[in-house]
Amino acid sequence: MILTPVLVLNASYEPIAVCLARRALTMIAKGVARIEEAHDIFVHRELRLPSVIRLRDYRRVPVRRHTVSRRNIFIRDRHRCQYCKQCFPGLRLTLDHVTPKSRGGLSIWENLVTSCRECNAKKANRTPAEAGMPLAVVPRAMSLHSARHVLRRIGEEDPKWRPYLYF
Ligand SMILES: [Zn+2]
Repeated sequence: MILTPVLVLNASYEPIAVCLARRALTMIAKGVARIEEAHDIFVHRELRLPSVIRLRDYRRVPVRRHTVSRRNIFIRDRHRCQYCKQCFPGLRLTLDHVTPKSRGGLSIWENLVTSCRECNAKKANRTPAEAGMPLAVVPRAMSLHSARHVLRRIGEEDPKWRPYLYF
């Protein structure tokens, strides 16, 4: 329940991020954000599980490329192993260098993909072609456009997000 994804809106109602309910509840408790939409599930006596929250103060969101991080790569790939195409929780996922690091592969968006532990071990020190393990999609940098695209994809599971993602 506390791992339910929550859409985070800027004070201007612009969608800016997705976080887990656990973090959203902390933001609400601190008074940083308030609930816009909630599920019919109570987490406390008076508090319902948030679906969409909105920041009280406007936050400037810099328009730049997202930083390469484990978390952002998982978000871009929607927690799907790019080799066996299955979704896993973060703990069972690893970052895989498409061209292995030991062979000069760089730690950049275009060379990093989400891989489950098993596939990563199976691929080992080989390229996808050598291992006979084709990638689900060609890895690209996450831009502001693709970030919104990702938000929409995640939002398909929660109809309460729709009014905030399609405009
Ligand atoms: Zn896999």
